[in-house]
Amino acid sequence: MTIQRTFSIIKPDATKRNLTGKINAKFEEQGLRIVAQKRLRMSRLQAQAFYAVHKERPFFGELVEYMVSEPVIVQVLEGENAVLKNREIMGATDPKKADKGTIRAEFGIDIGNNSVHGSDSEENAAIEIAYFFSGLELVG
Ligand code: GDP
Repeated sequence: MTIQRTFSIIKPDATKRNLTGKINAKFEEQGLRIVAQKRLRMSRLQAQAFYAVHKERPFFGELVEYMVSEPVIVQVLEGENAVLKNREIMGATDPKKADKGTIRAEFGIDIGNNSVHGSDSEENAAIEIAYFFSGLELVG
C-alpha cells in the first residue's frame, strides 16, 4: 500500500459557482483526505510560474487570465496512490471527454474552465505542494 500526497486546485470556475463543498465531497467519498487547504487569489506571476510548462502553448495567456480571475482553493490530498486516484476522480482535461461521475464531467464547463487541477506525477506533486505550502501546514 503506497500512501501518497498530491496537489489539487479547485479552480476559479468552481469557486465562483460555490462548488467547493461538492468537489471536496468527491475527494472524501473516494478515500482521499484533505490534509491541507487554503483559499487564495493567485497573482499573475504565481499563475505564470505554476503553469510555466505550458508557456509556449497558444492557450497560455487565456489560462493565466482564468487562474487569476477568481479565488482558488489550493489543497493537499493524501491517500493510497493519491496522484493517480485524484486524476481518476477528476476525469479527462476536456469535460466532454471525462467519464461519468468525475468532477470534470459533472462540474466542468469546457476544456479551459474544467474546475480542478491535479498533479500528474509524484515528482510534480512534491514541487507543486512546496510552491504553496510549508511543511507545518500539512496536517495528516
Ligand atoms: P490537466 O493536467 O488535465 O489539467 O491538463 P493539461 O496539463 O494539459 O493543461 C493544463 C490546463 O490548461 C487544463 O486543465 C486547462 O485548464 C488548460 N487547458 C488545456 N488545454 C486548453 C485549451 O485548449 N484551451 C484553454 N483555454 N485551456 C486549456
